[in-house]
Amino acid sequence: QVLNEFLNLKGNIRVFCRIRPTIDGEKFRHLRPVVPVDSNGVLLNFTENKTKLYNFDKVLHPASSQDEVFSEIEPVIKSALDGYNVCILAYGQTGTGKTFTMEGTADFPGVVPRTIEALFKQAAECNHTYIFSFSMLEIYLGHLKDLLIPQARKTNDPMPPCLSIQTDPNGGIVIDNLVSIQVSNFNHAISLYRLGSQLRSTASTNSNKASSRSHCMIRISMTCSDATVRRKITNKIWMVDLGGSERVLKTKAWGRRFEEGKAINLSLSALGDVINALQRKNSHIPYRNSKLTQVLKDSLGEDSKTLMLVHVSPKEEDLCETVCSLNFALRLR
Ligand code: ADP
Ligand code: MG
Repeated sequence: QVLNEFLNLKGNIRVFCRIRPTIDGEKFRHLRPVVPVDSNGVLLNFTENKTKLYNFDKVLHPASSQDEVFSEIEPVIKSALDGYNVCILAYGQTGTGKTFTMEGTADFPGVVPRTIEALFKQAAECNHTYIFSFSMLEIYLGHLKDLLIPQARKTNDPMPPCLSIQTDPNGGIVIDNLVSIQVSNFNHAISLYRLGSQLRSTASTNSNKASSRSHCMIRISMTCSDATVRRKITNKIWMVDLGGSERVLKTKAWGRRFEEGKAINLSLSALGDVINALQRKNSHIPYRNSKLTQVLKDSLGEDSKTLMLVHVSPKEEDLCETVCSLNFALRLR
């Protein structure tokens, strides 16, 4: 029922907003600056008489559990099993909970492990045969880096040879030489995910928290053999933990950090432009403006399902970035 609703609604792009709860004794001096309104609105309180309401397909309240969040996302996972290319993107300023949503923690697993679990479970329950393959890459300073490639793991080279992107005759995107490993169960896929995470040039353990300045992308490709119609369908689901959206000029970054921030800012605005053009049904969709949109080209658009999860902070001092994120989201609808 929920699924049908999702598939039948016109357009294939959904924009959700998740508001992070306050953590570690964060307090508000005056009014609460970011307030959810029902299940679709986010109200910003600039002052007592200056407010602005933003609408979303869904607002995930600060108290929403990982379970509740996933139940909102599950219909999209189901459409991947139905043959659609699917793209789930976590957007937002650093510290707003993108990684919490996508990866989660040991106690509160997020979208990635839950999706893998759901795929294997639902594939086992239906009467088709699915083959799943797992890939993981990072876009850092505009270069694609394979996170499963063994040589790179050995040399720990921050800039291994970059992967190139090709288009096949059917308009599908092929990333040359990207490692894709067939996975037969949940544990296998998760162990690859852990390996890939360790290889990020920008591991979150680095003191400068550079993980916020690269995009981390997981791809699960699936091939479905349907014995009754004797055909094979191959499609994929992308799960992307985007780089932090904070504007680089405001962060007083310099040198390499400035370059990293600039690369992220550019690719995020290219992503916004593509989704905006798709929503307006423009004849020209500017996929070519960033590596991020080139990689996702066949998963953002007509025969695909896109879910953008915009994350915002509840804090007063983050209000500027929150406005930017909500305005970014506004352009996508
Ligand atoms: P980002 O990836 O956007 O930089 P993180 O996911 O690292 O942000 O989140 C920042 C901190 O807030 C982490 O300690 C994380 O565990 C915590 N956090 C984020 N979202 C939630 C949530 N919904 N519930 C509880 N803790 C959260
Ligand atoms: Mg993160």
